[in-house]
Amino acid sequence: MRVCARLILLLVVTVTALLSPPPSLSATGTDATVPAVGRAWPVGLRPPVLRGWEPPATVYGPGHRGVDLAAAPGTPVRAVAAGRISFAGRVAGKGVVSVDLKGTGDPPLRTTYEPVTASVEEGEEVAPGEVIGTVDATGSHCTATCVHWGLRRGETYLNPLSLLPPWLLQRGPSRLLPLA
Ligand SMILES: [Zn+2]
Repeated sequence: MRVCARLILLLVVTVTALLSPPPSLSATGTDATVPAVGRAWPVGLRPPVLRGWEPPATVYGPGHRGVDLAAAPGTPVRAVAAGRISFAGRVAGKGVVSVDLKGTGDPPLRTTYEPVTASVEEGEEVAPGEVIGTVDATGSHCTATCVHWGLRRGETYLNPLSLLPPWLLQRGPSRLLPLA
C-alpha cells in the first residue's frame, strides 16, 4: 500500500515537472530593470544550472545571490555582454572577475564570475562572448566544479539569468536538475 502511494506520488511529481517550465528558467526575465543584453552564456552553450537564484528575504539573510553553472576546470569563461573589467584578482583566496556592462545605467550592472583565473586586466574593454578567464578546479561552493555567476546594481543583487534573452535561455539541449 505504501509502495503504491509512493508510486502515485512519483507519477504526480513527474507529470507536474513535465508540465511546468524548467525550474532554472521559471524565475528569469522578471526583473524589468535588467535589459536582456546577454549574447552568450558565461560557460558552454547551455550549461546545466546546478543552483538557481534564491533572493534573500533580508539584505543579510540566507539565499543564493547568483546562479551556479556546471563547468569543468579549465573551461573558458566569457563576458556575456560588452563591458569593462572592473575587477580581476583574488578575494579571500578565490579568483574573481567582475565586468561592468556597457550602457546599463548608473551605477551600471555588474556581473561577477568565480572561481575564475582571469586572463584580462582591470580597465580592459571586453566584447560579448570574449574569454575573460578559465574555471578554477577549486574554490567553488558546488559539490561539482561550477562557476558562480552573480549580477548586481550598486548593492542590489539581481538574477543574472535576466540578462539572457529567450533565444539563449531556451537553446537546447538542456540538462535539468534531477527531481530527487
Ligand atoms: Zn553560487
